[in-house]
Amino acid sequence: MSKKKHPTKQANKLAAPTVSKVVAAHDCTGCSACVALCAKAHAISMRPNAEGFLEPVIDFKKCNHCGKCYRYCHVVQRKAYQAHLIPHQQASTDPNAPQHHNEAHPGFTQRYFALSLKPDFKQLYGAATTGVGFVLAHRFVRSGDVVVGCRLNSSTNEAEHVIARTPEEVLPFCGSKYVQSNKHAVMAEVKSLLQAGTPVLFLGTPCEIAGVTTLCSTLKPEAKDRLFTVDLICHGVPSPLSLKLYAQDAAKELGSITGINFRVFLPQSPDWRNMFIGLKGTKQQIVQHCRQNHYYTAFLENWSLRPSCYHCPYTNLNRPSDLTIGDFWNIERLLPQFPYALLGTSQVLVNSKHGVTLFNLLHNHIRHVQEVPAQMVLQSNYLLHDPMALPPERALFFAALKEQQSTVAAVNTVLAHIKTQHQTSS
Ligand SMILES: Cc1cc2nc3c(=O)[nH]c(=O)nc-3n(C[C@H](O)[C@H](O)[C@H](O)COP(=O)(O)OP(=O)(O)OC[C@H]3O[C@@H](n4cnc5c(N)ncnc54)[C@H](O)[C@@H]3O)c2cc1C
Repeated sequence: MSKKKHPTKQANKLAAPTVSKVVAAHDCTGCSACVALCAKAHAISMRPNAEGFLEPVIDFKKCNHCGKCYRYCHVVQRKAYQAHLIPHQQASTDPNAPQHHNEAHPGFTQRYFALSLKPDFKQLYGAATTGVGFVLAHRFVRSGDVVVGCRLNSSTNEAEHVIARTPEEVLPFCGSKYVQSNKHAVMAEVKSLLQAGTPVLFLGTPCEIAGVTTLCSTLKPEAKDRLFTVDLICHGVPSPLSLKLYAQDAAKELGSITGINFRVFLPQSPDWRNMFIGLKGTKQQIVQHCRQNHYYTAFLENWSLRPSCYHCPYTNLNRPSDLTIGDFWNIERLLPQFPYALLGTSQVLVNSKHGVTLFNLLHNHIRHVQEVPAQMVLQSNYLLHDPMALPPERALFFAALKEQQSTVAAVNTVLAHIKTQHQTSS
């Protein structure tokens, strides 16, 4: 019998869309799952675009048009069921609504907590809020399992996801790195580890968790079940190029930058709402309030975020992860009886059965915990109901960054533009 392929099937394959379609629509989040999905053909590589964000680029000489990179793209899959999510999302913002059912984990009733841990992991290891991420990572490696988290490479000032197997290796994951992390080196390995029987804890932004979960959805159920995920409530991720150029700016005064801490703990100003950035150079080191720092200004004003962040499909309660962690903003007003922690309080969303297992791992470290209703977490955290709005200044910021090759100069250009606009309008 002839082995010739059926002509219609072959034509369909050639017409199959690729992840380039997602990139062209500015929807790509850079999760890098498509690189791992294309492991046989090796047709996809991640390259920085003009703004410095990594994007998949397809070598069409190698591409066999299987369509997997598109079919298993988390953006495509999320869009496919988003229409059906909308009525539930609307219900969840209603203060009288019952507890929310996370549509990403059907059948599980989500639970929400205010939580502070002991000891003070912020002071001890530089944890971002209370160290939930750190405790979970530590528990996993102590059991012989594997953790994938984000560290800042001190020689390149780039954030990258790496694999940790020891307590020493999870320490650099502590603290928020306010820049997009590079994942393409770990995605395929996560899949292999799960297949080989190793439980993996993956911590990252919601789009990273959605990417790794969709990638692993092709595995057998028992392998898929070994994946545990924690996502962060996420403001949006700034461009790695803006951080690289900022480090070059800072190096002029401080010497080559060998360390950046985006949330320095200052004993003289311990209130967590006053965020400080610390820069360590070979000649000297400085600490600046976030509002006085050029890099932070571009981040907080949303000038330097990835295009997909402005229409992020994960800024709601339908979390793709097992457990969600973030800062409990406005806790002093929303939960005045909760012992106020100057060092910060975590917001924790338990999203699935695996989430319950993760939450239970925190047990020995809990200082205070209180279960809260859905509407309170929605009131506390803007990023649980809306993405950041695209500001008109973003285009000017990136144009100036490209032209002047300096983040400080680009921020100054935007600030001068805003000042001129104010003067002409008043
Ligand atoms: C870019 C970004 C924006 C954020 N925006 C908000 C916000 O608007 N509102 C809010 O409530 N919370 C936000 N967070 C989350 C918050 O800053 C804390 O990370 C969170 O509360 C966890 O604190 P922790 O003490 O438990 O974490 P830690 O124990 O310190 O662990 C931090 C974990 O975060 C991971 N991580 C650090 N940087 C990155 C990164 N760039 N990409 C992916 N993973 C990373 C590490 O792998 C580590 O596991 C943001 C975090 C990031 C990285």
